[in-house]
Amino acid sequence: MNEQQRADGSLRHLITLENLPRPLLERLLDHAQSLARPLGARAPVSRALAGCTVANLFTEPSTRTRVSFELAAKRLGADVVNLEVQLSSRVKGESMLDTVFTLQSLHIDALVIRDAEPGVPSTVAAHVAPHVSVLSAGEAHVSHPTQGLLDALTIRQHKPSFETLSIAVVGDIRHSRVARSAFHVFRALGVADLRIVAPPPLMPEPGEFSGCARHTALESGLKDVDVVMMLRIQTERMAQADLPDADHYYTSYGLTPERLALARPDAIVMHPQPMNRGIEIASEVADGPQSVIRDQVRNGVAVRMAVLSEVLAWRSAG
Ligand code: ASP
Repeated sequence: MNEQQRADGSLRHLITLENLPRPLLERLLDHAQSLARPLGARAPVSRALAGCTVANLFTEPSTRTRVSFELAAKRLGADVVNLEVQLSSRVKGESMLDTVFTLQSLHIDALVIRDAEPGVPSTVAAHVAPHVSVLSAGEAHVSHPTQGLLDALTIRQHKPSFETLSIAVVGDIRHSRVARSAFHVFRALGVADLRIVAPPPLMPEPGEFSGCARHTALESGLKDVDVVMMLRIQTERMAQADLPDADHYYTSYGLTPERLALARPDAIVMHPQPMNRGIEIASEVADGPQSVIRDQVRNGVAVRMAVLSEVLAWRSAG
């Protein structure tokens, strides 16, 4: 049993997708799919989590993840409190755990945490009361589990089976929590041909991403793939001296229409956003017919509803 699960197999915390059992991942994806609606349709709402409170504790910037966790909780009838780092006591020197204990005293049931420091979500999970769940909304370069799930859901909506897919993850793999969570979920779901494509300084350490083919040339990495997942250069995790030159990067690694033509004709293009148009991706591709980037955002709410429902189900049942 994974340490994020309860004795009955249900999920209590979601800090990483690493080693989560495939049936649990598939259950979350199935539930999220049942909550996904086309653009323009009315969002599903329920009162399943009425009386529960979800706190968003973000100490790193976020647009999509924070808003979609908030919408997900509200659409399930939960109350939501949002703590912005500038307003929180953490900047006054209060430790993260003191902030967490304060929230716990205020009857928080789930704590959604984004932090630039590795290990914060698991440290918090180790200290909270047994009825509190901790959900990572992005941990340093390490993990972004709900992003991994929404990426898997988006692919599942366009491709019949993971086992037969070729997926290229392209860009700043080294500093990317999105790539790491994608790796864990794609592996668990049986993707056989998973490639990572990056210039040598942005490749991960040799022990990571085991089993993935490594390509330093975009052209070979994209050849005949079904899915192209582009990543942002994580400048906030690099020293000034290591920042790649934007023009040079685009010339070698930018996804242009010509390069996308190397993938299968029905390949889909993904990006977790925020996008740097003209650095890692051309606007014609980002906004083009093969792009599913906006579907990813829409799926984010459905996935976060499924995750919140899963970790707080025992509350609604009781
Ligand atoms: N929004 C994603 C993250 O929080 C991707 C990115 O920032 O590039 O990791």
